[in-house]
Amino acid sequence: IRHLKSPDLFGALDRLPALGTPVSERTFEVLNPSSGEVLAVLPDMGVEETRAAIDKAYVAQPGWAGLTARERSDVLWRWHELIIDHAGDLAAILTAEMGKPFAEAKSEVSHAAAYLQWYAEEANRIYGETIPAPSTDRRMLVIKQPIGVVGTITPWNFPASMVARKISPALAAGCAIVLKPAEQTPLVAGAMFALAHQAGFPDGVVNLIYASEGAGVGRELCSNPKVRKISFTGSTEVGRLLMRQCSDQIKKVSLELGGNAPFIVFDDADIDAAVDGAIQAKFRNAGQTCVSANRLYVQSSVHDEFVEKFVEKVRHVSVGDGFAPGVDIGPLIDIHALTKIESHIADAVAKGGTIRCGAERIGKDGTFFKPTVLTDISSIMAVAQEETFGPLAPIIRFHDADQVVREANDTIYGLAAYFYASNLKRVWRVAEALEYGMVGINTGRMSSEAAPFGGMKQSGIGREGSRHGLENYLEMKYLCMGGI
Ligand code: ADP
Repeated sequence: IRHLKSPDLFGALDRLPALGTPVSERTFEVLNPSSGEVLAVLPDMGVEETRAAIDKAYVAQPGWAGLTARERSDVLWRWHELIIDHAGDLAAILTAEMGKPFAEAKSEVSHAAAYLQWYAEEANRIYGETIPAPSTDRRMLVIKQPIGVVGTITPWNFPASMVARKISPALAAGCAIVLKPAEQTPLVAGAMFALAHQAGFPDGVVNLIYASEGAGVGRELCSNPKVRKISFTGSTEVGRLLMRQCSDQIKKVSLELGGNAPFIVFDDADIDAAVDGAIQAKFRNAGQTCVSANRLYVQSSVHDEFVEKFVEKVRHVSVGDGFAPGVDIGPLIDIHALTKIESHIADAVAKGGTIRCGAERIGKDGTFFKPTVLTDISSIMAVAQEETFGPLAPIIRFHDADQVVREANDTIYGLAAYFYASNLKRVWRVAEALEYGMVGINTGRMSSEAAPFGGMKQSGIGREGSRHGLENYLEMKYLCMGGI
């Protein structure tokens, strides 16, 4: 990766002290999705290394939990500052391995740092409670304690902020962690861990596993009794598998899984604002986010105006290498992402959908795809049922406001939903009726370290971010003192 300010720090990502021992002899390659170039060759770690890392975490955890909240907070603060100091390098690594535009990568790194800042502060506010007892001779109270060693698995679409969002509350709570980043994007995680070591986490508190696939590491994290909790972000399919693997030990899980976000434009919406919001919610990260708008519903009387303005803007979304100036969206993560979007388009067209723009690959190298808008979409098409995870916006015309909410809710998922409207009564009624963990009202972007992120139904369990995110990593203990 060219032009790093601190090549020394990041030059040895394959030899991090945090890796856990022994380091295996197998290796795997990390590719730049924009060019196919090999960026790094990393040790491919498996069950043995995972077990070693868990053992280290298990030994280190009580000492970490035994520090004062302020001491833990100080280390998180130092890590936060180091990430800010190295934001440019981290963003460059992120763009190189994942493809997103450099400006977006920088904003993701700031977002990652914001989680560390938030939980450095929150570490000091882990309060218990006292309960008025039903008899005079006893006192009742609740204390909060760290859950223990936490195993975490993160995805490739936000390789820096997912790492921070998962492990900063765990560390603030007094847990030790073992993290396996996605095989496509392990480098920025490695760089963040290198900075964590500089920040001064005691040996064994943060442990990184590089692996070319998740199954073996995942099974060990789920079945090893020294791990008390699994925190996972990724597909619903893998989330289900991990939950099953955790069931033997009733191991706690936090899961942040797939979505099928509806984006609804009602007839009383500000159409220009809705168009801008839809561009954000659909095309940010090339549509590769679990909160990406997956189905756009537009009310009949404003449908044509919305489509015309939207298509015009989509035509101006520029696609290219993440390091090129002025690029809005980069390549898709891999060839599978490309073929999925193509199969969704083919299915929609075969069932009567109309292509309004895009719908083709760009160039021969890389995995670039033109931002695409489809109209005449109906609920029987794959685009309306499944998460596309790409720059494809299918638009469904609707007539009845109650019906659209029923259709929006007719999915196994319940992560994010968006709607644009101005009538106050409608805003409240629709916000309350949508069965989603997060609802964006007149905005296409809502993720923040200060807010609880997570889903209902099969989109997950638990929330990340805000004070609620800390609860995922704390056990509640009731103390009853008698004979007083
Ligand atoms: P995506 O489709 O976004 O790649 P995945 O759920 O497959 O979503 O991947 C998210 C993370 O889960 C990655 O770190 C990946 O390595 C890991 N993973 C994939 N399969 C398994 C598995 N069977 N057990 C544990 N982790 C897995």
